[in-house]
Amino acid sequence: MLEFRTRALVLRTFDLAESDRLVHLYTEDLGRVSAIAKGARRSQRRFPGTLEIFNLLDAQLVDPPHASIMRLESACLERPFERLVNDLGRYAIACYFIEILGRFTGEHEADPELFRFAVGVLDVLAEEVPDRLLALLVLTKTLAHLGYRPQLIACAICGASISAAAGRVEFSARQGGVVCGSCGTGEEAAVPAALLRALEEGIRMPLRERARLALAPPAVRRAELLLERFFRYHVGIELRSSAFVHATLGFEQVDAARPGEDTAPARDAMVACGPEPAGRI
Ligand SMILES: [Zn+2]
Repeated sequence: MLEFRTRALVLRTFDLAESDRLVHLYTEDLGRVSAIAKGARRSQRRFPGTLEIFNLLDAQLVDPPHASIMRLESACLERPFERLVNDLGRYAIACYFIEILGRFTGEHEADPELFRFAVGVLDVLAEEVPDRLLALLVLTKTLAHLGYRPQLIACAICGASISAAAGRVEFSARQGGVVCGSCGTGEEAAVPAALLRALEEGIRMPLRERARLALAPPAVRRAELLLERFFRYHVGIELRSSAFVHATLGFEQVDAARPGEDTAPARDAMVACGPEPAGRI
C-alpha cells in the first residue's frame, strides 16, 4: 500500500454515508486528488478541525491496492486562512480561485510550483482589500500558470512588438491575443494597446502592487470582457463562481478610480517587457 505525506489545500468536501467525508485536495506532491476521510465527522483525533475549505494541511494519504480512490489517513492544520471565510469579497475571490484549481488541473499531475503559487495567492487574498481588479489578475495569473496566457504586447501572428502608442489595436481570441495592423483583418474588436500593456504588467507584478496600474473601473470592466472572451474560447467553460464575484464586488471598490478617465493607464508606455515569466504573486 503506497503512503504519502504532503502539504495540501482543501478545495471542497462532501459528506458521505456513515460519518465519512469525501475531500478534494490540491497537493504539493501529487497534484489534485480526491480522498475519503473515514470517520471524519466523528474523529477529532485524526482530523482536528481540518477539513474546511481553503485550509492548508499537512496530510497523510494512502493509496490502497485495487481501490479507485485514495484514503486520507490523517491531517494536521498548517494554516487556516480564516480571513477568507470572514469577508464576503475575499471569500468570493478565493472560491473563484479554488474553482480554477479544481477544474483546470489534472488529477495526480504534480506541479509543486503551482502549489506554492496557490498558497501565495491565498496569503495575498487574506490580507488585501478585495476588488474586481484583484479578481481579474488572480484569474489571469493562474491561467497563465496553467498555460493559457494571452499575447498582450506582441502580435500573436508575426510577433511584432505592439507599443502603447499604437492606439487601438485588434484583439483576436482565436489567434491568441493582440494582432498588429499588418496581420489584422479589421473584423476583431479594437482595444487600447495601453490597456493590454497594463494587463501584461499586471500579470508580471505582485498582486499587492496592482494599484500602480492605475486602471479606472471602465478599463477593468473592459479587460474583464476581453479576457472572459479569450478564456471562453481557449478553455471552453464558464466559471460558476464568476457571477458570485461580480455580484459581491461592485466597481466602487476598485482601486485607483479616477473620475472621467477611460481605459488608458496613466503610465502606459513605461511597461518593461523582459523575459520574466508569470511567476510573482
Ligand atoms: Zn503581426
